[in-house]
Amino acid sequence: MKRTLITGFPRIGEKRELKKALESYWSKKISIEEFEKICYELRKKNWLYQRDNGIDFISCNDFSLYDNMLDTIVMLNAIPKRFRKIDNKYEQYFGMARGYKESPAMEMTKWFNTNYHYIVPELSKDMDFKLDSSKIMSEYNEATILEIYPKINIIGPITFLGLSKTHNGESSFEYFDRIMPVYENLVRKLSELDKEVHLQIEESIFVKNPDDQKLELLRIAYNKLASVSDNVKIIVTTYFEHSVEATSILADLPIWGIGLDFVYGNKNIEALELLKDKDIKLIAGLIDGRNIWINDFRKTLSTLNKINNQIEKDRIIISSSCSLLHLPYSIENEPYSKIKKWLSFSCEKVKEIYLISQIFHSDKLSENDIILKNEKLIKEKGISTILKNEKVIKKIKNITNIKREGNYLERLSIQENMLDLPEIPTTTIGSFPQTKELRNLRKDYKKSIISKEEYEDGIKKYIDYCIKFQEEVNVNVLVHGEPERNDMVEYFGEMLEGFHFTKRAWVQSYGSRCVKPPIIFGDVDRLKPMTVKWIKYAQSKTNKIVKGMLTGPVTILNWSFVRNDKPRHDVAKQIAVALSDEINDLQLAGTKIIQVDEAAFKEGYPLRKENITDYEKWAVENFKLAVSTAEKGTQIHTHMCYSDFNDIIKTIEKMDADVITIENARSGNEILKIFKEVGYKNKIGPGVYDIHSPRIPSIEEIEEQIRLYLEIFPKKQIWINPDCGLKTRKWHEVQKALNNMVKAVEKIKTNR
Ligand code: GLN
Ligand code: ZN
Repeated sequence: MKRTLITGFPRIGEKRELKKALESYWSKKISIEEFEKICYELRKKNWLYQRDNGIDFISCNDFSLYDNMLDTIVMLNAIPKRFRKIDNKYEQYFGMARGYKESPAMEMTKWFNTNYHYIVPELSKDMDFKLDSSKIMSEYNEATILEIYPKINIIGPITFLGLSKTHNGESSFEYFDRIMPVYENLVRKLSELDKEVHLQIEESIFVKNPDDQKLELLRIAYNKLASVSDNVKIIVTTYFEHSVEATSILADLPIWGIGLDFVYGNKNIEALELLKDKDIKLIAGLIDGRNIWINDFRKTLSTLNKINNQIEKDRIIISSSCSLLHLPYSIENEPYSKIKKWLSFSCEKVKEIYLISQIFHSDKLSENDIILKNEKLIKEKGISTILKNEKVIKKIKNITNIKREGNYLERLSIQENMLDLPEIPTTTIGSFPQTKELRNLRKDYKKSIISKEEYEDGIKKYIDYCIKFQEEVNVNVLVHGEPERNDMVEYFGEMLEGFHFTKRAWVQSYGSRCVKPPIIFGDVDRLKPMTVKWIKYAQSKTNKIVKGMLTGPVTILNWSFVRNDKPRHDVAKQIAVALSDEINDLQLAGTKIIQVDEAAFKEGYPLRKENITDYEKWAVENFKLAVSTAEKGTQIHTHMCYSDFNDIIKTIEKMDADVITIENARSGNEILKIFKEVGYKNKIGPGVYDIHSPRIPSIEEIEEQIRLYLEIFPKKQIWINPDCGLKTRKWHEVQKALNNMVKAVEKIKTNR
């Protein structure tokens, strides 16, 4: 009997081998053969690990050279025109991901509510959809040589279309009839591989309040796919939320299995009724594929018992809640820490799946050593003093004032008097180029190669340079440049109590890019000021105003692995309180403008509509709590780096920042129209040029942008700034671009 399955496994490699291989290949340091060899070794290692640790349904085609959506684009031959003429398969593939000569890369966006990015398919009428199953076939064959007969993973047709974009406003679902034959062909082809081939088709789009059209397409698609061949056992999988609506359709179709997430989709329990007495296996996602804590076996077994009330034991397969792609590789690579014993990464989750299945399917519940050991660990964690900080708990309890004083107009008039800024003020978003010397300086200090004095001297020199530079360019509100920060979350996390930083817990963000999210394990406390010293130093070097620079509570939360013994909004509140103290200290030190970045505000949005109001409420509350200590005269800025405000504009308004700077350069004045429509009163700094590209915008170009903005908002409501921080740019680019930006504003003002 086969009883265990994982939805997918991380491909980046234990030591980020894939990242390194990709970078070496791109820079022509290794040949394609060497590159492919490394990739094969990674796949092999993953398969053997799963096999040796009790996984019955081992995954294949979860590997990718860049991204699985991009693989699906290739599988369907949905190659955008501008890449079709590239003969070399690898150049074409990486060209789509990263751009090829004059052809810009395809767009990339976040995969549901994760920090993983996929390539967005671009559909057009001229496409010749046809099957390219070469990747799947070759990976499957590689596995069979190792005597592993894996389950094959693919992204399903409706999710693929649902995440695609089209050119002329047509619905991507108009392509349904054109891509379905390709999927059918694939199933036919797979049926020749063996008497029994398991095909996991991911239809995660169904966790997002599906409409009737999508549900109807689901019925059509899986009726078709499931009747192509008896050899191919189709599993339809969803994750990150419940999919009750889809389950009600799938329950009546001749599919082999259905994968449901019971960790993030509590409501899936209710869907089980629909599956009662059906000849469909249940792939029960019970082990958390999104967070890094050890599993609580008692809890899982109790969920399993509930499942078992409706579904017979031999129909239940134990699984991860989603692909383990979103977790680091293994805790084996981490040095000792106080919390290590409570951590479980991908490799450990695999073992947990096996153990749960052993216990559940063998019925020897109470006498099991494993359970007792797990129970002890969970209990220990529950009462551990390193998680609790009475001082913080008490402080939070006593908080009554969660809003700043004064309404916007009141604040505005005080600020205008105090700040004395010109019309259409100019500023930047915070960071300046992170040079190699700067990175080395921080690294050397961390490794104690240089002394604190040497380190601080280096930082000061950089700040000096930034201040002088900005004075020369003549922007109105200066920044210190963020030289002391490696990362906008890590920097604060390292200064706050309750955060843990891993050494090697990398997670793929996209392609070769990995992130190492901090772990918030305990109550968050600020022991001392975190930024005051540097802002004060920078301010001492100029008569112009220097902006304080903080990362907001919601962003810190959304870019971390968060403790699972407290609701997320409580954790956000603790961070907000720490930040409010920082703001108070900055203010006392004379800082007149403070920016609180909420770059990841949007990432935390729930997938189900019904949960959005709640998220918005606490996210806004905690932002406001963070800035609650700001006096009326202290100007609060916030920054958000995306350009889709349609559905969140009301919430942005509620945050009530005095100034919001946003990413805008590629969107004309469309976004401003959205702000206008709701009657947005506070000030807005729409980015005037794209900082992601090395291209220098001309004065005329920027001027043109500003004129567009002024069609929507009066001069007095506008700030001018780049799209985002400048840390990834080179100094010479920044110099020219900012110069042009300031000149453009001058031209507008003098109407030349
Ligand atoms: N202040 C940060 C910076 O300039 C903001 C970065 C961001 O929004 N991602 O780097
Ligand atoms: Zn940004």
